[in-house]
Amino acid sequence: MNRRDFFERIGVIGLTPFLVSAAGTVSCGREEKFKGKGMNLRYEVKRIFLKHTWTISRGSSDYKDNVIVYLEKDRITGIGEAAPNTRYNETTESTIKVIEKAKELFKEIDPWKYYDAGMEIKNLCDGQTAAKAALDIALMDWIGKALEVPLFKMWGLDPHKTPITSFSIGIDTPEVVAQKTKEAEPYPILKVKVGRENDEEIIRAVRSVTDKPIRVDANEGWKDKEIAIKKIEWLVKQGVEFIEQPMPAEMLEETKWLKERVEVPIIADEAVKTAADIPKLAEVYDGINIKLMKAGGLQEAHRMITLAKTLGMKVMMGCMIETSVGISAAAQLSPLIDYADLDGNLLIKNDPFTGVKVEKGKLILNDKPGIGVEKV
Ligand code: MG
Repeated sequence: MNRRDFFERIGVIGLTPFLVSAAGTVSCGREEKFKGKGMNLRYEVKRIFLKHTWTISRGSSDYKDNVIVYLEKDRITGIGEAAPNTRYNETTESTIKVIEKAKELFKEIDPWKYYDAGMEIKNLCDGQTAAKAALDIALMDWIGKALEVPLFKMWGLDPHKTPITSFSIGIDTPEVVAQKTKEAEPYPILKVKVGRENDEEIIRAVRSVTDKPIRVDANEGWKDKEIAIKKIEWLVKQGVEFIEQPMPAEMLEETKWLKERVEVPIIADEAVKTAADIPKLAEVYDGINIKLMKAGGLQEAHRMITLAKTLGMKVMMGCMIETSVGISAAAQLSPLIDYADLDGNLLIKNDPFTGVKVEKGKLILNDKPGIGVEKV
């Protein structure tokens, strides 16, 4: 009797996704095809163009240079993405520097020990979390592909429990905001960027077109708690569902003061990057916005969801301006969350990849392995 026959006879195959022999060789229920360690790492910079100039309280952009990472081993390629953000001292160049440095590390990495690998990547990245996210997403995509299962399945999640994603409306003139709101017709929930002087004008422009639920993101734009509370009280009357990052991340006392006085949830975004930030926020915010690019990938995001839920906080997943690689990766965890704002790929003109779909706002996961992404 050969090895496979033996496992089939005792009913092991089918119950366990894979088996690791005493020799450390991984069998995927087929042949022993995964041997040794070391992964080949390469990357390319993709310039992605926005459909509309993207303006938030910090600034504007027409395009982003994201870094797509490929991790190859045993003829399987995991794909990841970095969307560096200047708010976190990241540029395309600083991201590439880390990825170049990681090439040596990956020559020694055993992907099946992906927990340990994640910790080694973290040490190497030194706070450059977009680069870390790209490497971790690619690693986890490789694992899913090697096991031939989507990551949501590997984590035991129900793909039907994905939430409806909001669609983001950036800051603009009232005319353009009204136009963008009309273009967002297929999406049942909007997330509106505010945080400058014309907040009321922007919300009125949205409300002139639609009465659908809106969520508001001030991106740290309100610097005074008295101004912030007046803004929020007015926004509540306009049917706003929650407020994201009303005040600067470091203004914890002021934000707690706000939270105790307003009727809608206050969600942390810029105030939270990784799981280590969450405990001190539990009394200050009602929930957190997790982004793979801040967390440094899927493994840390998974830990953050668990911790935030344990502390009784609402969990949202958001994104930067990303292709379908970053968005489809985040969507794998979305059956666990309360709110989704995973629309980065919907805001761009030239997505080089296809993956998670959106139907009437609902995230639709496919059954392809890993993060479920293919090149267009
Ligand atoms: Mg935000």
